[in-house]
Formats: sequence, structure tokens, C-alpha cells
Amino acid sequence: MAQRLIVIGGDAAGMSAASQARRRRDRDDLEIMVFERGHFTSYSACGIPYWISGLVSGPEALIARDPQTFRTTYAMDVRLRHEVTAIDLDRREVVARDLEGGGEVRERFDDLMYATGAVPVQPPWAATDAGGVFGMQTLDDGAALRDWLEGEPRPRRAVVIGGGYIGVEMAEALMQRGLTVTLVEAGSQPMATVDGDMAELVADAMRGLGVTIRTDLPVTGLEQRDGRVSAVVTAEGPIPADVVVLGLGVRPNTALAEASGFPIGTTGGIRVDRRMRVTGLSGVWAAGDCVETLHRVSGMPVHVPLGTHANKQGRAAGINIGGGYATFAGVIGTAVTKVCDLEVGRTGLREREATLAGFDFVSVVAESTNRAGYYPGARPMTVKLIAERPSGRLLGAQIVGWSEAAKRIDTLAVALWNGMTVDDMTSLDLGYAPPYAPVWDPVLVAARKAVDALAALDR
Ligand SMILES: Cc1cc2nc3c(=O)[nH]c(=O)nc-3n(C[C@H](O)[C@H](O)[C@H](O)COP(=O)(O)OP(=O)(O)OC[C@H]3O[C@@H](n4cnc5c(N)ncnc54)[C@H](O)[C@@H]3O)c2cc1C
Repeated sequence: MAQRLIVIGGDAAGMSAASQARRRRDRDDLEIMVFERGHFTSYSACGIPYWISGLVSGPEALIARDPQTFRTTYAMDVRLRHEVTAIDLDRREVVARDLEGGGEVRERFDDLMYATGAVPVQPPWAATDAGGVFGMQTLDDGAALRDWLEGEPRPRRAVVIGGGYIGVEMAEALMQRGLTVTLVEAGSQPMATVDGDMAELVADAMRGLGVTIRTDLPVTGLEQRDGRVSAVVTAEGPIPADVVVLGLGVRPNTALAEASGFPIGTTGGIRVDRRMRVTGLSGVWAAGDCVETLHRVSGMPVHVPLGTHANKQGRAAGINIGGGYATFAGVIGTAVTKVCDLEVGRTGLREREATLAGFDFVSVVAESTNRAGYYPGARPMTVKLIAERPSGRLLGAQIVGWSEAAKRIDTLAVALWNGMTVDDMTSLDLGYAPPYAPVWDPVLVAARKAVDALAALDR
């Protein structure tokens, strides 16, 4: 009899795992059954802001592979609108509720792939029956927001609550649709994924683009009129709103895992080993936004909910389920985003993270340009480097700039991944031609500055 893999969650991590397992084991050897509570499989939540802005079409364009393709080409039993509500690890069974047809099914498994993603953080004040308040996690959320923006009375004033990368991307999207946008942040600046000095550059640029930014301002409630949201309540008074987008972060979606006896780590994510096996549970795998992983620089467990990791982790799990051997090597915290033409990238540790991890370090900020100063389109680029003292090993990097900035972080990520020192980096053979870089690339300028700073301290 064929063995059976049950996958809970039909997006990046779950379907990467299922696809890899199928590549290695055919249907006579391994049955694959997928339970997904939503309407879609393998969709790009990352594309939602650009669908909202109108830059890309959706939702079909945001779907990498639809359920029918998985059924016919990959011989998988994909059940949409089915929510797994219980896992019995002793009997090796799951219970799933049919959210549309009603009723429940109970199915056995040999291997279980847990890939339920993350859930948006929702403070009590966000629980409202008023129309016009949206979290942004799934394509269904995106569709609901688009319907609201296109409905009558046409919303004009948007408030985005939370200045993480999703909040910032949504602020841009709403502005590009012609709404007046206010971004409200409880902390001292939006974009807290970079250090304060770099985040200030992002905030300044956003203000320049027309977004009103209110910082150090916790939201305490929402007001409504005639069933529609009308304002966001703060200690400094209400901010009028016809539409509110919540960008308050996410946490691992582990309620079912916890109830079923999975081990949960200090970050709230499921504990897994390098092959994505759930620690201590045989034949049970987990990947994506629901797990915690190793930060290769700090050595600490972290929860980094990004699609890039979900795909790689799911792939590793699927190869292992298929009988091969693969590991997920951990993360170094690389991430990129943009607000209109302003690009932001980071990798490694921020100053606060480096301090928490116990490193002695220097940090430098170097101003440069994306192209030769005389070449049309040359614009400022700021590179920040954090280097261990006295070794000079690169610990972290951040870039803010107007164009061709974000993907420069990849050069720094490779240097960091490979344990390079800032001194080694000054000799890197990077490409130069006036349309692409000044003769000293901004990365090299920053590395030289870090070498000087280390030398000054040890003099
Ligand atoms: C607006 C937005 C922009 C983003 N931009 C980026 C970006 O630019 N770069 C990047 O790297 N990442 C980005 N991300 C993050 C990225 O989308 C996630 O990290 C990635 O989708 C995680 O994949 P996953 O498979 O772990 O979880 P998910 O994609 O969340 O999938 C989990 C699936 O499990 C299903 N599910 C949950 N519980 C159950 C259950 N009990 N039974 C059945 N099904 C269940 C859910 O319906 C869901 O479809 C963005 C996310 C959002 C929301």
C-alpha cells in the first residue's frame, strides 16, 4: 500500500514540500493529500501591495500553480476550503472541516507536513464589525480591500497602522491609487527593521512623497459611522479614515500545533532541525512562517516570516520526505523593500541585535551615489556597515537609496554569509561603469570607512 503524506497549508512552504516529495516518489509509492482552508494554492502574498496599487493584475496573476495543476500534473488530492482542526499524533490522523460543504473528514498519514504560515497580530481594539478595516495576509484580504476601494462611497482617506514593511508597502499602494495616506506607528519611526538613523531616511522620503507619518502614537480604538470605519482613535485625538489597513506584524500560526503537542520555541515558532523535522516527532515536518530558525550570525533562534525562507524550507522538507537529503542552513536576516523609488535593504544584525548577541562592534555610515556623479540619474545612496571589533568581520549592513540600492544588499549578504572582513571587502572586484556605479562602488566606500573606523579605535 502506498504511504501517505498529508500537507496542512497549501501555499509556499506546503506546496514546495509536496512538489519536491512528488518529484522523488510517484503516486503508487506516495499519496499526497493537501488541506488548504482558503480558496487558492501557491499564491504570492508578496504581490498583494502591487495588485492593490494597480501595478499588476490579480488574483490569477499572483498564483504560481493552481489546485487543478497540482491535481492533474502532480497527482495530488488537493482539498480547498478544508481546515484541519485536530491532529492525533498517536493514531497518525488529522481531522479536517469542510468549510463550505459542512461536515468533517478524518484521514490517516504516514508523514505530516505542517505549513500553516503566520497570523496577523490583532490587538483587541482591532476586533470590529465596522466595514473598511483590513488585515493583509491572503489573496482574499487583498480582494476584500480592492472591493472596498472600488465601492461607494469611494474611500478618500486611508490610515495604515504599523510601519513594518507590509505597512510601508501598503501605504505606497494606497497613495498610488490616489488616496490621502496617514501611517501611524507606535514606535519612534516606521521601518524598524533597520537602525533608527537609516529608518529616518525612509520616513523623510515617505513624507516627501506625501505620506503623513505619525510616530510614538499608539492606536487605542476605531470609530465607526453607519457600519463603516470613520476614524482611528489615538491619545492625540481621532484621525479620520475611510479605510484602515492593519500592518501590526505577524506571529507563527501554531495554535493547532501547540494543541497537538508540537514543541514550541522561545520565538513562538515550531522547533525543527536542519532537515525541517519537528523536534522529537517522527515523520512530522514543518516549514515556513510557522517555524523558528537559526540566525547564522547571532546563533540565536529567530522567527523571520519571509517567502524566500518558506520556499527553501519547504523544498528541503519535501526532498527529505521523498527519501533524499537536504538541509536548511539558517538565515542572516536579508530583506528588501521599496517605497515608490526609494529602496531599502538589510542583512545581518542591526546595532541593537549585535548588542543583544554580545558583539563588540563599530558601525559606519557612508554616503555615495548609485551611478557616476556626472551620469544622468545619479542619486544618493547611504550604506551602513556593522563590523565586529577587533576582527573586522562584517556583522550587518543596511542600504537606503533611490535606485539600484536594494539589490546591492545581496553583495553584502554574500560577504557576510562567507564571513568576510571589511578589510577583505575593500578589494572585492565589483563591476564598474558610469551607468551602474561610481568608480568606487558604495559598498566599497562603506567597507573602506569601516576599516578606517576600526583602525582609529585600535590606534
Ligand atoms: C502583503 C505581504 C507582502 C509580503 N512580501 C514579501 C516579500 O516581498 N518578500 C518575502 O520574502 N516575503 C514576503 N511576504 C511574506 C510571505 O508571503 C510569507 O513569508 C510566505 O507566504 C509564507 O509561506 P507559508 O507557506 O509559510 O505560509 P502562508 O503563505 O501563510 O500559507 C499558509 C497556508 O496555510 C493555510 N492554513 C493555515 N491553517 C490551516 C489549517 N488549519 N488547515 C488548512 N489550511 C490552513 C492558510 O490558509 C495559508 O494558505 C509578504 C507577505 C504579505 C502578507
